[in-house]
Amino acid sequence: MKRISAFIYLLLIFSIAHSETRIVAHSQVFQGRSFIVFLRTAESDSKVKEVFVSFNGKKIPFFSYEGGLRAIIGTMPEEKPGDYPLEIELIKDNGEKEVFEQSIDVAYRNYPKVSFWLKPAKKKLLTADVIAEEWAKIEEKILKLSEDKLWDGFFIKPVPGITTMPFGMREFINNKVAGRHRGWDFRAKVGTPVKSAQNGVVRVAEFFKSFGGTVVVDHGQGINTLYFHLSKINAEPGQKLSKGEIIGLSGNTGISSGPHLHWGMSVHNIRVDPMQWVNTIMP
Ligand SMILES: [Zn+2]
Repeated sequence: MKRISAFIYLLLIFSIAHSETRIVAHSQVFQGRSFIVFLRTAESDSKVKEVFVSFNGKKIPFFSYEGGLRAIIGTMPEEKPGDYPLEIELIKDNGEKEVFEQSIDVAYRNYPKVSFWLKPAKKKLLTADVIAEEWAKIEEKILKLSEDKLWDGFFIKPVPGITTMPFGMREFINNKVAGRHRGWDFRAKVGTPVKSAQNGVVRVAEFFKSFGGTVVVDHGQGINTLYFHLSKINAEPGQKLSKGEIIGLSGNTGISSGPHLHWGMSVHNIRVDPMQWVNTIMP
């Protein structure tokens, strides 16, 4: 328990013991944040053949972790506060089946409104069709699950600048509702070196109309970080990276209202608050 408590971010934890199997998870998570579920089966227990996990009806993969299994689950900033079902089904070698159910409280977090103005040339890029089409290209890469955990310890901020817009804010662009800010913006003058927040493999290195110069780094097991609006890309798909390695230079490309880096994080294709991973070690 000592090891676990070192990285527990939230106050409440639930633990269910059913025969020899033990499940430990946060019982509460704030909107837009990630949480962890551990599953341990005793050595005397029959081996687990298959595990099925779902949160709020969405299937989540489990990976091996220190003799047990561990799943990381993301929540969206606009997820309605309340209880959501976490369901775990184990099928053992002997055919025995165990089902666990627990509710996870998604708690309210204050995400203020933010309004900003885009110049006509930038505004032209902001069409739902283009964004959807370009996002689909990124999503295709993000959805490819690599089995190995590549990250180690804390994630780092990719640039040193101050925050210009935090994660989750309700954006209004040119007086129109534009959805959530699914990343963290840091002030960075054009040409600032952008570092990979963790060890990983480059999956996307491409210029898009909406996101501008884009790099996506896969950290394994469904965790990816995204770097938008770069002026220059110094990375290639398939390239292995160490934490802190330079992947490009910051810029003001794509739908951007000034020089900055937009840094995002995806947990099984849910875009979560990346700063949680800077402030807390996710095992
Ligand atoms: Zn941003």
